[in-house]
Amino acid sequence: MKLSEMKQILASGQIQLTKSLGQNFLHDQNQLRRIADAAELTKTDKVLEIGPGLGPLTELLVERAGEVLAIEKDQRLFDFLLQRFAGSHSLKLLHDDALDYVRREQRDWSDWKLVANLPYSVASPILVELAQSPGCPERLVVTLQLEVANRIVAQADDDDYGVLSLLIQLYYEPKGLLKIPADCFFPAPDVDSACVVLVRRPQPLLSPELSVAFARLVKLSLSQRRKMMLKLLKQNWPVEKLTAAFEQLQLSPQIRAEKVTLEQFVKLTQLLHS
Ligand code: SAM
Repeated sequence: MKLSEMKQILASGQIQLTKSLGQNFLHDQNQLRRIADAAELTKTDKVLEIGPGLGPLTELLVERAGEVLAIEKDQRLFDFLLQRFAGSHSLKLLHDDALDYVRREQRDWSDWKLVANLPYSVASPILVELAQSPGCPERLVVTLQLEVANRIVAQADDDDYGVLSLLIQLYYEPKGLLKIPADCFFPAPDVDSACVVLVRRPQPLLSPELSVAFARLVKLSLSQRRKMMLKLLKQNWPVEKLTAAFEQLQLSPQIRAEKVTLEQFVKLTQLLHS
């Protein structure tokens, strides 16, 4: 879909874009193709798209995948999409808030791929919700603010490393980050964007029960970045148990959580819950 076509559709439908819904539409064909390529789609794939907008990415997904479920919150865009894709039997369009839908339905997404240019305001909660769902999607190819993308892929000791990095990387390995210039969107956003590619780990690092404990541990450890992690954890565990676990992992009692790797957080979760 060309920019001129996009502008014409919006003008003829008298659709004023809404900033709070993150309505920055991607019109650059090369970038759209790069995103679809990163999803490595085949006709046996099922794809979830959140926020199809006017459908420039949807079009490619329908072409390449076997089944597409696209969830759009904006009634005006949903009505437009129903008409635009009236003949596409492999596409199911839903008018809903995607975050509410994912929370409410608790579906098994394990044989799905998420491919989306996400609405920026709900991008992180949607990703965490899907990652923590009973069966998380096999691949996430998501366009979001560069700053959020950097936080998702960050490693211990990076400036952007934090709760989001750990909650996502418990389930996914980052496989790439493609920067997308602002002028590829209409209207151009004030911030830079990137598409992140995440592939589900072949084996879960922790059981479902311990994954819940991991999330609690990570959030408490990073709740006050300047404080020593051991001191923060004393709120929840006896000091002897903590000291023994830190010693076993060769973690200094003075260490701050931003220096602790994913693997160390995983082992600490196991030791503190054994
Ligand atoms: N995929 C289109 C594209 O690349 O041009 C549009 C992407 S635009 C960044 C985000 C889209 O998500 C908009 O169409 C917006 O209306 C929709 N949206 C915003 N919040 C949503 C939500 N909570 N659930 C579903 N769709 C949402």
